[in-house]
Amino acid sequence: MTDAADIPIRVRPEIAVLPPYKQGRQADANAFKLSSNENPFDPLPGVVEAVSDASSFNRYPDATATRLRTRLAERFGVDLAEVHVASGSVAILAQLVQAAAGPGDEVIYAWRSFEAYPWLAVVAGATAVQVPLTDGARHDLPAMAAAITDRTRAIIVCSPNNPTGPIVTQAEFDAFVAEVPSDVLVILDEAYAEFVTDPDAVNGVRVLETGAHPNVVVLRTFSKAFGLAGLRVGYALGHPRLLDAARSTAIPLSVTLQAEVAALASLDAEDELLERVRVIADRRDRLATALREAGWSVPQAQGNFVWLATGEETLAIAEQFDAAGIIVRPFAGDGMRVSVGEEESVEKVLGIAASVVKDLPEGHPARRLA
Ligand SMILES: *Cc1c(COP(=O)(O)O)cnc(C)c1O
Repeated sequence: MTDAADIPIRVRPEIAVLPPYKQGRQADANAFKLSSNENPFDPLPGVVEAVSDASSFNRYPDATATRLRTRLAERFGVDLAEVHVASGSVAILAQLVQAAAGPGDEVIYAWRSFEAYPWLAVVAGATAVQVPLTDGARHDLPAMAAAITDRTRAIIVCSPNNPTGPIVTQAEFDAFVAEVPSDVLVILDEAYAEFVTDPDAVNGVRVLETGAHPNVVVLRTFSKAFGLAGLRVGYALGHPRLLDAARSTAIPLSVTLQAEVAALASLDAEDELLERVRVIADRRDRLATALREAGWSVPQAQGNFVWLATGEETLAIAEQFDAAGIIVRPFAGDGMRVSVGEEESVEKVLGIAASVVKDLPEGHPARRLA
């Protein structure tokens, strides 16, 4: 193979410098893969059965996923036109950002937040405006409001924030949207909504129910709480006009019949799946508490993961975890995210974490102040 640099194909310069997507490493048999916020429970038998019965894949799927959208519309008490389904909520993020922002336009989001956000803005040709998190690794919504200009076309709010964990409160969100011009799209990314136990957290469905802010679109996914990451299905709730814009930029027929029936079967089994979510949330709370007791500073953890601000030591520490059979998601120079996985992984994480924290100097940001 020749080096890509040797062939005379023109690629947009901002795309040429983008690093290709890097997936959380696959785990070998004895390691726990805690790098992708996946659900550690095996799929429910009823869901597996629905997928294996959906064998007519010589046919294209229903492009509008009407059965699933109807079911979600009933579930949330909204109209069919107020529900959009795509192959993962990342696909909807891309559709919305492309629909709203082009070259010269600005997309605001908190940083550090979900890795896809900078990429989405670049691919749309728009300018990313990153607003640093506050102490406690939380969204700084007043600073995000202050960053709005005439060029702002979309703002992404992630609650709970991936990878750091804290929620945005309902009061913070309400005060924020009141400041956002009504023609600017606000995307509330609630990929981890089902894991939230803090009663003060923003709830996108409640925001939509008020009808006060038709510029807000709420994103949710079947990948995390419902354990369908490999089938690719997520959804958006919001004003039909905004969702129509997303439908216009969508690649048609991306949601497979298998994904649709798995989502429907998951909604049939919602109580059972949410019981598993409660188990994971309890495990998360136990993990976060034990890490703090061991000397780590852990920001509020409301997703299915915890954040350790390991800073310059991140890659070295991630390797120590790796050697102990725990695969984490490191963000070089900043910190690492550890998913809440199998029950047996908890003790293993705590073992290596307790040994690593002792080597960090006093005053290191990952250490709890004594
Ligand atoms: C996982 C995740 C998503 C959605 O992932 P899909 O699998 O594409 O539905 C969206 N936003 C955030 C912040 C996530 O962590």
